[in-house]
Formats: sequence, C-alpha cells, structure tokens
Amino acid sequence: MVGAGFAGLYMLYKLRQMGITTRGFELASDVGGVWFWNRYPGATCDVESQQYSYSFSDELENEWRWSKKYAPQPEILAYLKHVADKFDLRRDISFETRVESAVFDEKTGLWEVKTDRGDHVVAPFCVMASGCLSVTQLPQIPGIENYKGDVMHTGSWPHHDVDFSGRRVGVIGTGSSGVQAIPIIAKTAKHLTVFQRTPNFVVPARNGVLDDEADRRWKDNRKELRARARVVGTLCEFSTKGALDATPEERENEYSRRWAGGGVNFVHSFNNIYTNQAANDTAAEFVRGRIREAVKDPAVAERLCPKDHPLGTKRICIGSDYYETYNRENVTLVDLRSTPIKEITKDAVVTSDATYPIDMLVCATGYDALTGALEAIDIRGRNGLALKDKWKAGPRNYLGLMTVDFPNMFIVAGPGSPSALANMAVGIEQHIEWIADCIVHMQERNASLIEPTKPAEDQWVVHVNEEANKTLFPKANSWYVGANIPGKPRVFLCYTGGIGRYRVKCEEVVAGGYTGFDFQ
Ligand code: FAD
Ligand code: NAP
Repeated sequence: MVGAGFAGLYMLYKLRQMGITTRGFELASDVGGVWFWNRYPGATCDVESQQYSYSFSDELENEWRWSKKYAPQPEILAYLKHVADKFDLRRDISFETRVESAVFDEKTGLWEVKTDRGDHVVAPFCVMASGCLSVTQLPQIPGIENYKGDVMHTGSWPHHDVDFSGRRVGVIGTGSSGVQAIPIIAKTAKHLTVFQRTPNFVVPARNGVLDDEADRRWKDNRKELRARARVVGTLCEFSTKGALDATPEERENEYSRRWAGGGVNFVHSFNNIYTNQAANDTAAEFVRGRIREAVKDPAVAERLCPKDHPLGTKRICIGSDYYETYNRENVTLVDLRSTPIKEITKDAVVTSDATYPIDMLVCATGYDALTGALEAIDIRGRNGLALKDKWKAGPRNYLGLMTVDFPNMFIVAGPGSPSALANMAVGIEQHIEWIADCIVHMQERNASLIEPTKPAEDQWVVHVNEEANKTLFPKANSWYVGANIPGKPRVFLCYTGGIGRYRVKCEEVVAGGYTGFDFQ
C-alpha cells in the first residue's frame, strides 16, 4: 500500500481487521498525507472539521473535539496522528520510503513493489492511496534555478517556523493555498508582492470557535448527519430553486445571506450554478460586487475580479480577509496577464515592465493532480504495459477504482471517481470500504485476481465525460482538466455525477455480482 494519509490509514485499519498482512510505504516521516506536507501559514480545511473526519469509529468520534468550524492544519495533523496511535497503525508503515515501482508478474499473479530503500515486497494486492494532490508543481519560470533566496512550495513547507518579518516576500499563485497564506504572510512581511495569473472567486470562511453546543449537536445527531453526508458529500443547505427562477431581489437576498454565513454554502444558493452559465453569471457578479466593496483601490479591485471562468469551475476558494489584505500598504498585486513574468534572477522577479526585489519566494502553484502520484511510480501491468503509457491520452479506468491490464491494483480517490470534487473524507471511506468488501468477496469465491472488463472501462470513461459536459466545469483552465501542467492531456479528471450517485453505482455493481469485473 502506498500512502499514509486519510486513505492509507483507514485502508490499513480495515485490512488489519480482516486479518490481512499489510505493508504500507510513505515518503513522509510520519502519517498525515496532505496535512503532513501542507504546513504553510493559514492552511485550513474548507469542509467543516466535524464532517472532514472519519465516521467508522464511534469511540473516535466521541473522544475527538474539534476546536474550530474549520480546523487549522496542525489540528488535522494531530487528529490523524491520534488515529494512528489509537489503532496502532504505524508499525505496518515504512516511513521516509518512496515506492519507485510496482510490477505485476503474470506468472505468479503477484505484484512486486520496490522502494528507494531497497525493499522488495511481493503481494497479491496493491492499493494506491498515494493522494490526488500530493505531487507539487513548481512554476517553470526561466532563471528560477538561479534564485538565491528561500523558495518554498506550500505543499512541501518547512517544519520550522518561517519568519517573514523584515523580509520582502513574493507569492506566486492565488488558488486555495495562496488565498489562505497571503493574508497571514502580509501581517508580518515587510512587503508582500502577489503575482497573480488568474483571479479566483473567494468566499469568506467566517471561521470561528466550535462551541460546546455545536460539538454536542454533531455528536448527538451524527448517525443521521453521517448518513446524509454519504449521499451528498458535504452537508450544505442545498437549494431546490434555479437562480433564474428567482427575482433579482430574491437572488441578492439569498446570496447576501449565504455570504454572511460563510463557506461553500454560497455555491449552493441555487441548484443550477454549476450547470447554467446565466445562473452562474448572477452568482459571479454578486462576488465581483463584494470584491469592489472590499478593496479600496478600484484598479486593484478590478484586477482581483475573476472574469474568465464560471464561479466554482476552478475550485471555489474559502478565505479569511483575503480581499481586505489588498488594502494594506505593504501589499502589491501584480497582474501577470498584462505584465507576465519574464525571468527570476538571483534576487528578484522580473516582469515585462518592472523588477520586484524579493528575499523569499512562496510558490502556491498547485499540483500534478490525480494522475501525478500514480504516474510518478513505474507501474507495470500485463505484458509490461506501463500505466503512464496506457494513460498517455488521459486516465482510463472503471469506477475510478481499477484499470484494465492492472489486476488487483486498487486506486483510492483517483481519476474517474468523485475524488477532490467531494468531501474527501466521505469519498475515501466509501472507496476503502468498497475495496475491503471486494477482497472479502474474492476470498469467499476463491478468486485470486480481479480486473475490470474493457467494455465496462470504456463505458465508464464515456460516462465520466458525459457527466462533466453537463456542467460548466470543463470551461475553466483548472487542475480538474490538467490545464496547470504543460503537456498534460485535457481530460476532465473527476466524476461530477455526485458522491451519492457514484455510491449507488458502486453498490449496483456489487449487487450484480461485480458487474463489469472479471475474476480468476
Ligand atoms: P494524501 O493525503 O495526499 O496522502 C498520500 C500520501 O502518499 C502522501 O503522504 C504522500 O507522501 C504519499 N505518497 C505518494 N506517492 C508515494 C510514493 N511513490 N511512495 C511513498 N509514498 C507516496 N479535501 C477535502 O475534502 N476538504 C478539505 O478541506 C481539503 N483541504 C485540502 C487542503 C490542501 C492544502 C490540500 C493539498 C488538499 C486538501 N483536500 C481537502 C484534498 C485532500 O487531498 C484530501 O482531503 C485528503 O487529505 C487526501 O488523503 P489521501 O490519503 O487520499 O492522500
Ligand atoms: P491551484 O488551485 O492549482 O492554484 C495554483 C495557483 O498558482 C493558480 O493561481 C495558478 O494560476 C498559479 N500558477 C501556477 N503556475 C504558475 C505559473 N507558472 N506562473 C504564475 N502562476 C502560476 O493550487 P492550490 O492553491 O495549491 O490548490 C490545489 C487544490 O488543493 C485546491 O483546489 C483544493 O482542492 C486543495 N486545497 C484546499 C484548501 C482548503 O481550503 N482546504 C487549501 C489548499 C488547497 P492559474 O489559475 O492561472 O493556473
């Protein structure tokens, strides 16, 4: 098994319960995955903490107390460490170990896994819990290798406190990570220059202390709340009304009410924001209005207004004091669309019209999402077929879980599954439980291999694309379509049909005797 984040830890727990010996490999020195690596200032979940947690253990749920509506990274990491301690999971994980290859041996029907520490493990099953946002992407800017100051990527942040005081800091990137880090860095940096390529829609988090009453309300009702989350992913106030069926006043009131409440609830103000451009335009214009209100300099406000993609089609950002930060004297916003970066020198970022001397460079420039971690491993299936060759024109698999020619290799939260479009804690639990049940089923029918059929895989790929094309998501140049990685094929990478429909589909497959899979 590769990875010891949310997915790897639960997989290990499940397999151990089933009496299956498991060896986990993790590049990091401890558990946590994303929450181990992302120690940048302001790193916080954007799904409410109570929902962004495991539901499989009543005891765990009862004993854990979240301090805030959206927990900060140290608390989520502490939670995952607590899970590892409580269930004694670390003893089956080799840390600081990178899996370099996983090769299927057709003669034995076993996977051979090799690591950078010289491990050579042979196993009947291989679970890739390697993360959908775990391979960081540094910007490919001429001269960056000559820069002499500190360069930090948000997704591989140093473990010591980073002191910005008295320093001129540059941040490249204004996605979810940049949006969280920028207001905090601005508070202590001598000067902060934000290099923005695409402005994003940022909804206020309105984070705050989770009081005893909110904690008790969740704990008392969690059975029903968790059951509902299994259908909808993130528990929100979902609207049954279309934006264009409301009067302009009704829309304004609804958007204002949800803006005041904070969080992802805003994108569910009406039921067609993700599917109807005109409906989406009303929500986008509302946000642009809030930006123009919050930012004092009208020229800066206009640069911060997203205009090139529908709201939510790049992941909506949840921030705290993001737009207000641009009112600070010590913050400069550079619009890379009008003045692109030409190069980075030993001590400055040079754009087409100016030179910005900086002491520290923060790259909030994202990830090679969904396929990156899988393709970084030399995974070979039948006839020596390399996964990255099979997926050259985009990932192909069945239910996002398994891919033809790679028997017994399970992928958690990978392409073709709801993955990063859902509350991932919910999606991960569904995947892990499906995989565990599948292995039990194989034991019961005395099967040693499972593999999807080609027609099932082809139909799933078509279905994933059809579902995506019913939405506005494909309109944006986002990591959801691989647009952030030069040369990556443009394919919509997540399943947009919703976690509820996806779960039903997975259950139907099982009820039909694993429809679309062959066993040997
Ligand atoms: P990860 O947590 O990414 O763990 C995968 C692990 O595999 C990593 O530790 C990595 O080191 C290891 N690994 C990968 N390749 C190898 C290899 N070859 N050898 C050895 N080890 C390897 N989702 C939400 O639903 N809500 C949120 O609020 C939210 N916030 C996020 C914030 C940030 C900053 C990021 C980056 C993502 C966020 N996500 C969020 C998405 C997040 O990816 C998931 O919620 C979840 O943490 C994924 O867990 P995972 O175990 O699948 O993967
Ligand atoms: P991201 O959304 O991919 O954002 C990367 C940013 O860097 C974008 O603004 C991008 O601009 C910019 N960029 C990339 N390369 C650049 C270059 N060469 N020059 C200039 N700008 C460049 O990455 P992220 O912010 O790390 O977030 C990734 C995902 O992780 C999120 O969508 C979310 O799912 C998850 N996440 C969640 C939270 C949370 O709130 N819980 C926090 C962080 C991350 P373009 O848009 O123009 O490409």
